[in-house]
Amino acid sequence: MILHVGIDDTDSRAGMCTTYVGAAVVDRLKGRGINVLDFPRLIRLNPQCKFKTRGNCAIALKVEVSDDQLPMVKRVVLDTVSELAELHHDTTNPGVVFYQADKVPPKLRAFSKKVVQDIVTIEDAEALARELGAEAHKFKLGRGIIGALAAIGNTLERDRTFELVAYRTRENWGTPRRVDVASVEEMNAKTFPNTFDNLDPTTDEIRITPHTPCPVLYGIRGENPEAVAEAHGLIKALEPIERWIIYKTNQGTDEHLRRAKVAEIKPFWSVIVEGVVCERPRVIAGGHVIFRIRDDTGEIDCAAYEPTRQFREVVKKLQAGDGVRAYGGVKEKPGLPLTINLEKISILGLMPILRKVNPTCPRCGKRMKSEGRGKGYSCKRCKTKAPVEAAKLVKLPREIGPGTFEVPPRARRHLARPLIRVKPEEREY
Ligand code: ATP
Repeated sequence: MILHVGIDDTDSRAGMCTTYVGAAVVDRLKGRGINVLDFPRLIRLNPQCKFKTRGNCAIALKVEVSDDQLPMVKRVVLDTVSELAELHHDTTNPGVVFYQADKVPPKLRAFSKKVVQDIVTIEDAEALARELGAEAHKFKLGRGIIGALAAIGNTLERDRTFELVAYRTRENWGTPRRVDVASVEEMNAKTFPNTFDNLDPTTDEIRITPHTPCPVLYGIRGENPEAVAEAHGLIKALEPIERWIIYKTNQGTDEHLRRAKVAEIKPFWSVIVEGVVCERPRVIAGGHVIFRIRDDTGEIDCAAYEPTRQFREVVKKLQAGDGVRAYGGVKEKPGLPLTINLEKISILGLMPILRKVNPTCPRCGKRMKSEGRGKGYSCKRCKTKAPVEAAKLVKLPREIGPGTFEVPPRARRHLARPLIRVKPEEREY
């Protein structure tokens, strides 16, 4: 039989990572002769969810088991979660789901999409598990069953990427990571764009090593398992690697985004909205750039926050009347209007900026002066007069052109699709 296993909510800000728990489960099951089918999946859930610790990820795997092996497999999974989860932290509420099925039913797929794009309750997850005959194990509050069930239901058919994650040995957890920087640069030069987001070109920062106290030494993202494996072989780790795993994932796919009209937008959504810029962007304290767009249903603020660095320079050059498509997560702050935290922006059309230029004198060629509002022009040198209509409107050059612009890797959401992944035939601007 095929058994789907979902795991979520095992970590805290102080340590652990659900991907590590997943890797430990996979290794322990393989060590007991269990056949793990396909790649284990790392599913990123709604990035706007307030319960997330960091990247809102959950893990799912599919194993082939006999009736005899079933109790042992469940025991290994539950024992691994009990052993590794940060259960002593208030906000860690693990969930494990077991689901026996050859195929993922449409209802479960729909639930998974909702967990990536919206908010659901523990009760919603419990009710669906009951209906499907899936077994949901709650540790403490058991909020993790939401992500665990959602990960099982996300079959990554529309798009997917891969991430190879290498883990540190326990004695190094919480200490500075030691990886040879030059080897990462060389790896990037050899494998980009089949691997991506290895470096941040704006700061030359290495992006594969996290800065949290979790067990991850590095994670390499790429288009296929071969590319991430090759990249892993090129990196010189200056500390021991306890284990590594390749996950199939919805990272870098834009699965969190939904097209919406302004009036439909809800907090906790991530949206793609087309509209017209209402006013010139303004820079506020902290270096954040804010502007408003409108469509035929309403107006909403858009923000390019300080960490998006040079992306703000593009945004700053927008003008009232420009047509844009804004992509990003919706933020709700008490007392403030809903704001789209920009991940990308497409410039669809630029409003011409026109400036009135005084006519030149038809007799002597000198630039004429205005005689006052609505009074026409005169030449100071030869006193020739010209009517108001003699002035010309000239188009000023715009410093930006149509296209799609994205935040740099350091400010990128796990789910955001880097432009390097967008094929020319898919571009829509
Ligand atoms: P890490 O990325 O390091 O694994 P995390 O950021 O994934 O940590 P969790 O500790 O897993 O955070 O906490 C997120 C919690 O929120 C989980 O219990 C998960 O089930 C729940 N959750 C995730 N998405 C949603 C959603 N869309 N609606 C309601 N609850 C959600």
